[in-house]
Amino acid sequence: MAKIFCVANQKGGVGKTTTTVNLSAALAAIGQRVLMVDLDPQGNATMGSGVDKRQLANTVYDVLLGESSIAQARVSSAWGEAAAKPQSPKYHVLGANRELAGAEVELVSLAQREMRLKLALQEVDTEYDIVLIDCPPSLSLLTLNGLCSANGVIVPTQCEYFALEGLTDLVNTIKQVHANLNHDLKIIGLLRVMFDPRITLQMQVSDQLKAHFGDKVFNTLIPRNVRLAEAPSYGLPCVVFDPSAKGSLAFIDFAKELVVRFESF
Ligand code: ADP
Ligand code: MG
Repeated sequence: MAKIFCVANQKGGVGKTTTTVNLSAALAAIGQRVLMVDLDPQGNATMGSGVDKRQLANTVYDVLLGESSIAQARVSSAWGEAAAKPQSPKYHVLGANRELAGAEVELVSLAQREMRLKLALQEVDTEYDIVLIDCPPSLSLLTLNGLCSANGVIVPTQCEYFALEGLTDLVNTIKQVHANLNHDLKIIGLLRVMFDPRITLQMQVSDQLKAHFGDKVFNTLIPRNVRLAEAPSYGLPCVVFDPSAKGSLAFIDFAKELVVRFESF
């Protein structure tokens, strides 16, 4: 059975999509069978995996509305010449585009509206080791579908002044979903991203996070690295675009840490 993880944080621009895409590529690179689900109507995780969101015949939208199975809608991540390693292992992508923004309204009238992704994932469960879900920056019905499908949540967070405050809201939401809808759900860990050890405040907030969340804070730190920000414009995960970049190496380390961690589940 696949382990299903949501990458969630209701704040925008904190590194969710960068984490989902590069962790998918890194897990594939260390031999895991990965399905990446894009639950954000912006479709950035789809594009960042080399898949043109405008060309998709079926997306996660069709899956949520019961008009397509995941087996019909998924595609393979795509890279060719632009990739440093064109042969890099691929992963599967259940893509998203603007159409998904309408799902929010359309789902409301459907039965089991928050369980639709979960039910669809059950059909492909045995084909993957890991499913990673990129959530939108809100606590919407889309995010709820992600949280109801998942065994756990990976929370990317910047080490900034308001980080702890934002995390309190997310932790409360996860507790509520755990209590009412998904007893499996737990926080797998907090991933410190865009980290710059030269900034004293970041070191302080990082220490605060460790004091507050203990071993729920992953050991791996994702550094601020411009290559991570550049890779999406080539339609590639940085792990594929520039495997030797500091950011790529950090995501490979993180993939390894995660695999060890979920052996203990
Ligand atoms: P979210 O999905 O939470 O909105 P993104 O992953 O899209 O966040 O990241 C927001 C912006 O920050 C993007 O432009 C992305 O390229 C950039 N970014 C993310 N992580 C890093 C990093 N470690 N170093 C440098 N830039 C980063
Ligand atoms: Mg995003």
